Amino acid sequence: MTRVLLVEDDPAIAEPLARALAREGYEVLSKGTGRGALEVASAADLVILDLGLPDIDGLDVARTIRADGYVTPILVLTARADEVDLVVGLDAGADDYVTKPFRLAELLARVRALLRRVGGELTDEDELVAQDVRVDVGAHRAFQGKRELQLTAKEFELLRVLLRDAGAVVERETLMREVWGSDPAGSTKTLDMHISWLRRKLGDDAADPRYISTVRGMGFRFETSEV
Ligand code: CA
Repeated sequence: MTRVLLVEDDPAIAEPLARALAREGYEVLSKGTGRGALEVASAADLVILDLGLPDIDGLDVARTIRADGYVTPILVLTARADEVDLVVGLDAGADDYVTKPFRLAELLARVRALLRRVGGELTDEDELVAQDVRVDVGAHRAFQGKRELQLTAKEFELLRVLLRDAGAVVERETLMREVWGSDPAGSTKTLDMHISWLRRKLGDDAADPRYISTVRGMGFRFETSEV
């Protein structure tokens, strides 16, 4: 289920919006402060962010999310039309904005467009997509554009887990556990080797990755857009 983090301190806006998002089938996390939002931001697939929050400026919330390495799409709500350039143009890291007052239908359309654009969302029950890479879990097949990737069972599993969490860091321990389970042959060196083989098959370069970024001391992230 796609999880939307709604950060808005005005209940007159937040409540109807949360209901509308839930009706659209999203799981909604509602927060009225920037601090509350930052605590749960890593769990969100998309953030709807009001700029005028009681504790932290919304722009700083967006900057912090980006500084923490999350590429989660951010849709800004602002009554400050004069700040729109700042929001999307400069370093705040928002992807789109809607000025208040807004029409609900328009906002929902923007949300859908952003989720489509970033990929990584579940387009089908068992299809995972990010950039031009697609994994059909049911059929156990992986594609890059129109080309089918010839992957070993472990490489396939690795790609599946990375794509499932595309845009987020998957910790090394998570990959070890999900791909190798309790297999004693699975060591952290094995993981690095398989990542390297997977990169080669994707034509990816570890030094300048397009798909799989190494997050030092943590794990790996499958990028939802070219970096
Ligand atoms: Ca506000």
